[in-house]
Amino acid sequence: MIHEIFPVGPLQCNCSVIGDEHTREAMVIDPGDEIEDVMAVVQRHGLTVKQIVITHAHIDHIGGASKLKRLTGAPVLLNQNDNALLKMLDVQAAWIGMGAPEKVAIDASLEAGAKVCAGGLVADVLHTPGHTEGSICLYFAPEQKLIAGDTLFAGSIGRTDLPGGSYKKIMQSLHGPVLALPDETVVVPGHGPLTTIGQERETNPFLVG
Ligand SMILES: [Zn+2]
Repeated sequence: MIHEIFPVGPLQCNCSVIGDEHTREAMVIDPGDEIEDVMAVVQRHGLTVKQIVITHAHIDHIGGASKLKRLTGAPVLLNQNDNALLKMLDVQAAWIGMGAPEKVAIDASLEAGAKVCAGGLVADVLHTPGHTEGSICLYFAPEQKLIAGDTLFAGSIGRTDLPGGSYKKIMQSLHGPVLALPDETVVVPGHGPLTTIGQERETNPFLVG
């Protein structure tokens, strides 16, 4: 598995490029901004982008999706419960002092239990509402890797005070599908350093006790 993780945009969203080293097919997760850098990583590895996956419709995660789609022809995938947030990208841009971004059209909704593939790599979609209604995590079971979006961070969890947020729901998501994963699972949060499920189960102040 090729996996490059790099922060993009003013809020330093962790963008992932994940590729199958045999077929050179790839998915890009959360191309929030700096699409030139995303394309440079794609080209350096000789990859073809087959899927653009958005963990949730906050602008720092989705802002560059239209540009990346134009450059690659790949479909943009997002859980439909974030459609309301998707319609207010201009409002979100104003929150963080950015110019209004390009509109993003979603090609398909990612539902709980769906699978997303790039070559031989397969990720299970976990619907994990709470940070937003349509937040998802992607779990690569053979590689024991979780792309967590803004649901889980090293030592913290996603904020729930923005529109569509719910503390009750994020706790249900975390104590449900997320903490059901094996301790060894490497977690790639939407911002900041990597962690593991075991580390967070033991030490995350929002999850212990
Ligand atoms: Zn977010």
